[in-house]
Amino acid sequence: MIDLVEQIVRHQLDDTVKELGQPKFRAKQLREWIVQKRVDSFDEMTNLPKALREKLAESCRIWTTTIAKHTTADDGTEKLLVQLHDGGRIECVLLRDGDRRTICISSQVGCAMGCVFCASGLDGVDRNLTSGEIAEQMLRLQMLLPVGERLSHIVVMGMGEPLANVDRLLPALDLASAEDGLGISARRITISTVGLPPAIDKLSKLDTRYHLAVSLHAPNDELRTKIVPVNKTIGIQKILDAADQYFEVSGRRLTFEYVLLSELNDRPEHAQQLAKLLKGRPALLNVIPYNPVPGLPYETPTVQAQQRFRDILENHGITVKFRHRKGDKINAACGQLRRLSKENLVPLEGMPS
Ligand code: SAH
Repeated sequence: MIDLVEQIVRHQLDDTVKELGQPKFRAKQLREWIVQKRVDSFDEMTNLPKALREKLAESCRIWTTTIAKHTTADDGTEKLLVQLHDGGRIECVLLRDGDRRTICISSQVGCAMGCVFCASGLDGVDRNLTSGEIAEQMLRLQMLLPVGERLSHIVVMGMGEPLANVDRLLPALDLASAEDGLGISARRITISTVGLPPAIDKLSKLDTRYHLAVSLHAPNDELRTKIVPVNKTIGIQKILDAADQYFEVSGRRLTFEYVLLSELNDRPEHAQQLAKLLKGRPALLNVIPYNPVPGLPYETPTVQAQQRFRDILENHGITVKFRHRKGDKINAACGQLRRLSKENLVPLEGMPS
């Protein structure tokens, strides 16, 4: 079977169509049906001759994945538990907020970074997603929109560490940002990373224009290594240097994410250190009050502790946004959908407009 979405992201559809003995314009038609006209089957491709549709159905498939579960929350958030061809499961989410139609997608099955509070990494990483599997999440979520509505934003904040799979991620994001793809401007596409300097350097070299969000979670290396174990061999300074360099090249204001964990990283001294660290950087601090994961010992700070944290940073002139949860009733927050059936996500205030 030839996997068409994978062929599309790898720019190999022209060759496939040729091998099937078809003229080149058929590749353009197929791509339009799959990427823009949101069809689910060859039968719906009405400008292709019936014989060709039958031939395609025999030798090619549009999807390599199936939807294991589809959940909708009262606020309009929809979540898909996606089953991969090898039985692996990932999740992705569509968020509706005013005119925004934001999707959150996964980059790996599981995660190797080991952040102590996060559900996605509890069982380590199984494997990287292919470019096609990343693109399929976008197309599947796009199909949930009525005709006439378009996806406006993408955040790569689902399961996995996107920069640990950057070579497969970028072709999928290219499809998302291409005019003849999903047409979502690069500044509306956010890559959220634990902070892997060589991969951030690669983004700078490739001159990608995506928005970068760095998950900091602590203002000093000692604490960060406790919360984000992979920090041990990296260190905050190297991440900040790589992120500053990316800003220089891309001109995209950086976002730093900070999951607020009661008593662990929400103390006034943490806020003061963080203010010092971020001062002078054209950056936004996105604070995410912890979204509890069943079985983990961490707690969401009280409203007073959250306010205290915010006040100190704002008094130091740091731009702070608190990200409030959406879709938490359907566990659309960070690795939780998969865990419940073995399931999670957090959106999205303060993300680029
Ligand atoms: N690996 C990437 C993407 C992960 S998820 C990264 O580390 O950025 C996106 C964001 O959600 C990260 O900042 C992550 O730390 C945060 N997150 C994960 N689990 C969470 C939870 N239970 N509550 C709140 N935020 C969480």
